[in-house]
Amino acid sequence: MENDGDTIFDAVVVGSGFAGMSAALNLSLNGKKVCIIEARDRIGGRVNTGYANDGHSFEFGATWVCPGQDEILGLIEKYNLKTKEQFFDANHILNCLGKKRVYSDGTTPPVGVLGRMDLSYILNKLNSVAMRIPIEDPWNADHAKWFDSITLETYLKKHTTWTQIGKTSIDLNIRTLFCCEPDEISALYALWFIHANQGLLSLFQAQHATIVGGTRQVLDCMLEEMKQTGNVTLVLETPINKIEQHEDYVEVTNLTTQKSYKGRYCVCAVPPPLIPSIEFVPPLSPEHIALRQRMPMGNVIKTITRFSRPFWRENGFSGLSLSDSGPLCETYDYCDMDNEFYALIGFIAGNDCITWRQYGEEERKNEILEQFRNLYESDEAYNATEHYEFDWNSEVFTRGGYFAGLTPGTLTKWGDQLRNSHGSVYFASTETATKWSGYMDGAIQSGRVVAEKIVEKL
Ligand SMILES: Cc1cc2nc3c(=O)[nH]c(=O)nc-3n(C[C@H](O)[C@H](O)[C@H](O)COP(=O)(O)OP(=O)(O)OC[C@H]3O[C@@H](n4cnc5c(N)ncnc54)[C@H](O)[C@@H]3O)c2cc1C
Repeated sequence: MENDGDTIFDAVVVGSGFAGMSAALNLSLNGKKVCIIEARDRIGGRVNTGYANDGHSFEFGATWVCPGQDEILGLIEKYNLKTKEQFFDANHILNCLGKKRVYSDGTTPPVGVLGRMDLSYILNKLNSVAMRIPIEDPWNADHAKWFDSITLETYLKKHTTWTQIGKTSIDLNIRTLFCCEPDEISALYALWFIHANQGLLSLFQAQHATIVGGTRQVLDCMLEEMKQTGNVTLVLETPINKIEQHEDYVEVTNLTTQKSYKGRYCVCAVPPPLIPSIEFVPPLSPEHIALRQRMPMGNVIKTITRFSRPFWRENGFSGLSLSDSGPLCETYDYCDMDNEFYALIGFIAGNDCITWRQYGEEERKNEILEQFRNLYESDEAYNATEHYEFDWNSEVFTRGGYFAGLTPGTLTKWGDQLRNSHGSVYFASTETATKWSGYMDGAIQSGRVVAEKIVEKL
């Protein structure tokens, strides 16, 4: 479908991440005319598949899917894509408080009897309290105001005071889950997140499988399916700065080029912290704005380092490590043995990210190779053949990752605005999902749900 500028689509969708694409797919399959307007020169948002020198794909953004993520698994199946289980079948490493602890699948890290008691107590506690937080309306939980008045840090301190190893390990796990520190997010929000994402065990097993050939393919297939309906127009490189509601339609405009697109409804599928910088006419309510001003994105740089041999596997390691020192707080094997692609991926997250962002890329790379050398006990770590990094906080149209978390006091005061529409403008993003929020699966759910609401109205 071409846009002649005067066309009034059934819906304009701002943003082509999984949320926007899912909304557009569901609308177009229901016979509705849709225009997707994307700021970047590519679709996908926080999904960004990169390619190595020989064309092998890897992920700068979202990578894994896991059982229970029915939305994304459904699309993978529908498009006949394949997944490959993450390699874990060797020794893992917990490197914290100056000591490297090696353990294997099915065992817990050797953190001593007290450390283990500490960890199992706090994990059980978090899980059991989380299950009592209602997913649809966490602000109505028993003691919601109290849980929301404290940070997750305060909550953890109340419950893990016996050992330093217990506290350090739990902090590391929080850093790798949320890309922030426990003192940055509300305890109520963290508990809600755990419940919405099926409990801590399921969260810790989220790195289950990758999509063979790259995550981006799911979005490409969605676009292809939409195109087949003949109902979709995609406009790239057009950041929307203004969303104006007229009597019968919503007009979204790029104020630099003055290009605008009209739809009877609008799906605003941009990350929540970016929404206050868009001019809304009539204006978004102070409640809508207040919520999104208190949802900072996490801090994360993702790295991928390629080698000529999988030396960590040869030395009996799975590539999974958690570290409280060195740039990378978390690493994973990213090998494709059939195609001789041997790589480790890593995350610089939370406070580590703030610290290591001060250094130059070359310095970070050298430190990362040193970290691999120490973790996997081989000088081959120094012989990386390719190294890439991606700083999500420097991305103007994302501003961090993996997702936006809520600061104390936000959920109970303004949480009900998360999924509220603004007239004919609906909001979708992984952050508005009620299942697998923060993940691709949640983004797909959020887009599908707003599409269903709009289809009902049209
Ligand atoms: C490093 C990293 C690793 C991750 N790993 C995983 C993982 O392994 N598994 C998993 O399930 N999830 C993972 N995630 C999370 C996952 O990527 C997100 O939950 C999901 O992709 C979010 O989709 P979305 O549509 O809500 O938002 P986005 O993907 O952010 O989409 C928003 C879109 O809006 C566009 N946009 C922004 N502003 C404007 C504007 N003004 N006008 C027009 N367009 C605009 C953006 O360019 C973007 O395309 C990861 C994320 C990161 C950053």
